Amino acid sequence: MKNHMELQQLIDKLHKERSLLKEEWTALISGRTPELSEYLFLLAREERKRYYGTDVYIRGLIEFTNYCRNDCLYCGIRKSNSHARRYRLSEEDILSCCRTGYSLGFRTFVLQGGEDGYYTDERMVHLIHLIKRQYPDCALTLSIGEKSFESYKRFFDAGADRYLLRHETADFSHYKSLHPPALCAETRQECLWNLKKIGYQTGTGFMVGSPHQTAEHLAEDMLFIKRLNPHMAGIGPFIPHHDTPFSGEPAGTLELTLFMLGLLRLMLPKVLLPATTALGTIAGNGRELGILAGANVVMPNLSPAGVRRDYSLYDNKICTGDEAAECRTHLEKRIASTGCRIVTARGDSKI
Ligand code: SAH
Repeated sequence: MKNHMELQQLIDKLHKERSLLKEEWTALISGRTPELSEYLFLLAREERKRYYGTDVYIRGLIEFTNYCRNDCLYCGIRKSNSHARRYRLSEEDILSCCRTGYSLGFRTFVLQGGEDGYYTDERMVHLIHLIKRQYPDCALTLSIGEKSFESYKRFFDAGADRYLLRHETADFSHYKSLHPPALCAETRQECLWNLKKIGYQTGTGFMVGSPHQTAEHLAEDMLFIKRLNPHMAGIGPFIPHHDTPFSGEPAGTLELTLFMLGLLRLMLPKVLLPATTALGTIAGNGRELGILAGANVVMPNLSPAGVRRDYSLYDNKICTGDEAAECRTHLEKRIASTGCRIVTARGDSKI
């Protein structure tokens, strides 16, 4: 066990050198205290300010399908959840979300969904063309899971700018314990390297406090993210969903999630770092605290109110009853309370 002084020195080392050794990450993560967190967040805020000032970027999230061929043990829209009410938005529905979003000042649209066979490469390419033709000044982000190099390339050539694919956990055996046998960490990570190679602004990330997770696993996550050097890193607490095998597992904590956000900001000072909806779900002021720990992105929901409840990855998700405009106004106030402000720029990566 390292003492307070030694742990603070590790934070200083991270600040200066932008990386730590695996044992150092593990020691820092498992030895964290409220005092160390405050020190970390202060440095993290300074780093964010250096590159982004007080700007917080918004991304309009469109959850366009909850059909999924996968069976991830933590996820509420997993294939074997027969209680999930399945829906799929049509092209017109999606374009109408973009229209609403555009008028609210969104200049990034994120199409997220389960791995839905209906949305073939052809249909995706068509959709990407449509959106980019109507909104050439907006960035388009995809978050639709694992695909071949060729598919990713087709979407990119069609105009998609960014791709979000969390690695979930970098440790191979931990990954196995969260996923069905058909899925493996190696393939997931390969997808991320492919996305970078193709030229996407790429986002990865992990859940904090997922079942069986240890400080060493989190250390491996930090090392993996350092190697990948993504443009964006999305992390949020694991939250159990009542219709999954992990229904009885405890949620990840606010405190550890904030600490990991601060560490990410110091390791990759220019990274785009969202204060996620899951963070806002485990604590009423979670997203504000995320901003104060170094985050600089929020991703409010643009999905039609009628389907929001059905994109249920975890229990008690916030904003499922709101209209897009309400979310936008609430968030504006919440972010202002942190001394930052929402801006409507595309918010491209500075890496
Ligand atoms: N099908 C896409 C999108 C997945 S949903 C893909 O494979 O990338 C987006 C993210 O939600 C996931 O990457 C996962 O990290 C997170 N998530 C899923 N279930 C969750 C849960 N129970 N608690 C917290 N986050 C969860």
